[in-house]
Amino acid sequence: MSTQVAFFEKWRDLMRSWGFTVHEAAGWRTRDAEPATFYRPGLMYLEHHDASTRLSGNWGALAYILNNRLANIVTARNGEITLCAAGVEWHAGVGSRASLGDIPKNGANPRSFGNEVCNDGISEPYSAALTRSIIAGEKAWTIVSGQKDVMRVLGHKEWADPEGRKSDPRADMDRRRADVQAFGNVVAVPPPVPSPGSPLKFPVGGAILAAYNRLGGVQRYGQPLGPEADAARGGRWQEFQRGAIYWHPNVDKGTAHAVEGDIRVHWWGLDAEWGPSGYPTTDERGDTGDGIGRFNHFENGWSIYWHPATGAHEVHGLIRDKWASLGWERSKLGYPTTGEVVQVDGSILQIFQRGGSITFSDKDGITVKLPA
Ligand SMILES: [Zn+2]
Repeated sequence: MSTQVAFFEKWRDLMRSWGFTVHEAAGWRTRDAEPATFYRPGLMYLEHHDASTRLSGNWGALAYILNNRLANIVTARNGEITLCAAGVEWHAGVGSRASLGDIPKNGANPRSFGNEVCNDGISEPYSAALTRSIIAGEKAWTIVSGQKDVMRVLGHKEWADPEGRKSDPRADMDRRRADVQAFGNVVAVPPPVPSPGSPLKFPVGGAILAAYNRLGGVQRYGQPLGPEADAARGGRWQEFQRGAIYWHPNVDKGTAHAVEGDIRVHWWGLDAEWGPSGYPTTDERGDTGDGIGRFNHFENGWSIYWHPATGAHEVHGLIRDKWASLGWERSKLGYPTTGEVVQVDGSILQIFQRGGSITFSDKDGITVKLPA
């Protein structure tokens, strides 16, 4: 047994004190892939991405990582964390780092703390919540380990030999370390909103700037977290502290729109603007029947509705048309509690908040069952 339970408990407690959600996988305290006489998870921090597709959901490859003992923690797409193992895990593999003399070649598993971040590693944006969770976790690690040297926070690609063997994480690790360095010890949620007039950290321009200003600019939408970048089919997007703004020349006459929070997380699960919904055609709206729910409409006749009681779900096609004709969430059906579910007989069912449903089948077309 080579676990470091106290180290991980301190890290967990610090993260929780900062407002982050840390789940504990069953048996994490005794999980130990490689019993080692020397085990020091405070010598190096390795950030990874798990290469899971957005379709795999919030927790990506968590089950696979647990089964194969591949990380000490997993960070979900929404920034929540699962503590997987207080023991040595197989995540570092073959590698070396000349500047870290106390970590022998290929000897990082028992000398590092591994974080598998749920991300496809190709084009998927890191949400503001995810980025914040990673940075806070790395800061917490420097505090718990007593490491003053932020250069001990590394990406797997920086450790792996030969150079180029690993591409994870997709994150720019120099920027990551700068963010960790700058991260305050007090990070009460919500994230800090800069005062009006503070200089933008990255340029914001064109249609994205118009949307950013409409949304309240730096005061309400926070700082840009990176430069504008390519999005699907010739569009552009940019990440901000509060959410992301997407633009495509052919969508809503070239007006850019913002996607945020749980709606955005759900939209990633649908492959974001690359997926069947396409680009947002509205910002997130709160003009719902109860004033509590929120929604975005999307390019291809899709909508995603969110309510604290139901979570976020998409509605599209003929079922959406019918629901809209009944009055959307103001109808007796209320908010959706599922997406479309294909039944054994091939019909498609969507269930709503108060037990009602809308079904489509080739034989009967659309059928509405109102709640009792
Ligand atoms: Zn890795």
